[in-house]
Amino acid sequence: MGLNHFQFLIIVLFSFICDLDVFFTKYARDHNHRNLISHSIIPSILILVIGIFFNWNVLIIASIAYAFHIIIDTFDWGTNFFYFNQKTIGFRLLITKEEEENLEKFLSEFKVRASFFDFKYYNSRVSIGLEIILFFLMVFFQILFALEYIYILPIYFFFLYFHLSRHSRLKKVEERNIKSDN
Ligand SMILES: [Zn+2]
Repeated sequence: MGLNHFQFLIIVLFSFICDLDVFFTKYARDHNHRNLISHSIIPSILILVIGIFFNWNVLIIASIAYAFHIIIDTFDWGTNFFYFNQKTIGFRLLITKEEEENLEKFLSEFKVRASFFDFKYYNSRVSIGLEIILFFLMVFFQILFALEYIYILPIYFFFLYFHLSRHSRLKKVEERNIKSDN
C-alpha cells in the first residue's frame, strides 16, 4: 500500500498526539495526564472503528500507531489503560510500591515536583536503554521501509532537545535547592 506524504504525516501525528493532553493536566486525577481518557486504549479503538467504517487505511494504521504509544507508556509509569475502571495498568518499572503509597512525601522532597519523575526517568538505565534501542529501531525501519520520508527525523530531535533541556533546567533548580539547605 503506497502512502503519500500527507497520509504518512497523519499516521506519525497520531503516534504522539495523545501527549498533547499535558495541557489538560489540571483536569486529570492526581494531576497526571496519563489518567486522562486520551492515554487509554479507547481513542485508538474509536479511530480503528471509524477507519473500518469509512474503509480508510490511513486511519486504521493511525489507530495502531496510537495504540502503540499507549502500550509503550505502560512500561515506565503505567497508564489508565481501560479508563473507566480508573486503574493504572503496566509494568511500571520506574515507580516502587513504597513511592506510590507515599508519593506526596517523595514529591515534597523536591523544589519542583516534576523533578521526582524527571530524575527517576533519566537515572534509570532501563529507560535510557529502551530510549536508545527504540531510536535505533526507528531509524532502521525508516531507512528500510520509508526512506523517502526521512525528512521527518528532525521532529524526534526537536522533542529530544525539549526533554533534555527541561532535565538540565530541573537539575540546576534542585542543585540550588540542596546548596541553600546547607
Ligand atoms: Zn504518552
